[in-house]
Amino acid sequence: MVQSLYFDGKSAADRPVAVTLGALALRFEGETTAARDWPYDDLAAIETHHPGHPFRLTSKAEPNARLVLRDDTLALALINRAPQLKGGASLKGVAKVAGGIAGGLAAVALAGYLVVQFAPQKLAFVLPDSWRERVGAQVEVSLTEGAKHCTGNEGVSALGAMAARLAEGNPDLPPLSIRVYDVPVMNAFAMPGERIVITRELIRRANRPEQVAGVLAHEVGHVMRRHSEAQLVRVTGMQILFSIMTGGGSDTVSSIVGIATILSYTREAEAEADDVAVKLMTDAAIDPLGLKEFFEILLAEEGKASAGRWGEITSVLNTHPGTEDRIKKIQPLPDGIAARPVMTDAQWDALKKICE
Ligand SMILES: [Zn+2]
Repeated sequence: MVQSLYFDGKSAADRPVAVTLGALALRFEGETTAARDWPYDDLAAIETHHPGHPFRLTSKAEPNARLVLRDDTLALALINRAPQLKGGASLKGVAKVAGGIAGGLAAVALAGYLVVQFAPQKLAFVLPDSWRERVGAQVEVSLTEGAKHCTGNEGVSALGAMAARLAEGNPDLPPLSIRVYDVPVMNAFAMPGERIVITRELIRRANRPEQVAGVLAHEVGHVMRRHSEAQLVRVTGMQILFSIMTGGGSDTVSSIVGIATILSYTREAEAEADDVAVKLMTDAAIDPLGLKEFFEILLAEEGKASAGRWGEITSVLNTHPGTEDRIKKIQPLPDGIAARPVMTDAQWDALKKICE
């Protein structure tokens, strides 16, 4: 019995489960997860297994669900029983860079330089998951230092329900880690490794859950396009490659750049995140005007003394310049699609009280 994590693909929650290998199927269960079997024949690897790194799997019966094994012995025993798991998408880009290092330092330095100079957005998609997770965790700790993590049970499950609503009609949504912190400034952040942080003040100031869902969808846009990873590549340059090669995390990275720099996106990235947000909301039949309304709340704040209260970190959604243009681009749901509420009134109440 080995502790692993299960994401059901519907909620953002990660559930600890114990995994055992049976004759024909892998079985897992946990406190909040009823026992279930995934037949060996149905399993698929999300990426190739690398010793020392989490091994992510899915199953035909639950294509949106993920099981994350953190034990090499278990992973190898499983691959023995389900040989198709040896394949999977490989991290070709990183392998190429690693191959380059073996080939000669000058070539590597040149290749690395070119990669980080000209393709941060592409490199963001070949960074090892284990590294992204490690860096994301460290960025979150640095960002939220001193702030209380809000863990009201019903509020947390309301947030999970909101993420699950966004995933409706968007099965490719990756498993997300979404946390609320008790910070008296309206803000939200997307970090490496599919992490999102929302402040209590943002939830407090929202008039309806669709506004929070709009912000969340925008941050999911940054996550899906890996904007924070790309930004890391952009600002740390070659350091990032050494950090990956040596198994380091953002201790290397944060020593050379501030958190604010990592979380400040280009105007282009903001526009992309808006587009993803509107698409996610439309596909899930959530009123996209929630995002628009939230922009309007932010616009009303602009120019007030409160701006920039939380260090140098730019305001949520990076409002100016061009906020009016961004607002104009957000269209209501097309005719024929009726908006469905993002959560119940009881869930909305619970979310409002998540920090109490
Ligand atoms: Zn943004």
